[in-house]
Amino acid sequence: MKLCRIKKSNIDRNGKGLYATKDIEEGTRIIDYVGKIITKKQSEESEKFDNSKPIYLFDLNSKYDLDGDVPWNTARLINHSCSNNCDYDGQGIKLWVVAIKNIKKNEELTCDYGFAYDSDYKQFPCKCQSKKCVGYIVREGSRWRINKKFKKSTRINK
Ligand SMILES: [Zn+2]
Repeated sequence: MKLCRIKKSNIDRNGKGLYATKDIEEGTRIIDYVGKIITKKQSEESEKFDNSKPIYLFDLNSKYDLDGDVPWNTARLINHSCSNNCDYDGQGIKLWVVAIKNIKKNEELTCDYGFAYDSDYKQFPCKCQSKKCVGYIVREGSRWRINKKFKKSTRINK
């Protein structure tokens, strides 16, 4: 049985989100984050990632990035929240989504997108409605979402 399903999102009113199909324990690997592996050169040269769609791009290693903006990547539908219940994890070039809290059945799954705090941050207002919401989808550190196993960054709202 799959641990999550697609449903209209409570956070992104125009979009979809992923919801828990049953109670999920902290530490559970919920879904793989898949996509196209591209070289750094490709991501640097592609206009697609020039801050318009950075949320799908992951830094895998010094040579390659993962472009998760593909229809078969269900995990791309997970929305950002400032008090997220999931996070990205990985090993080698594999990425997945793991529960960082106990999650109740029918709860929306959320991650913390690692946007940099730069002049563009106002492009991405946050509507997560959590008490900890900083108003924008930002986090100090790298411009792109980074697998935390490789790079830890400090949250801006602490
Ligand atoms: Zn928020």
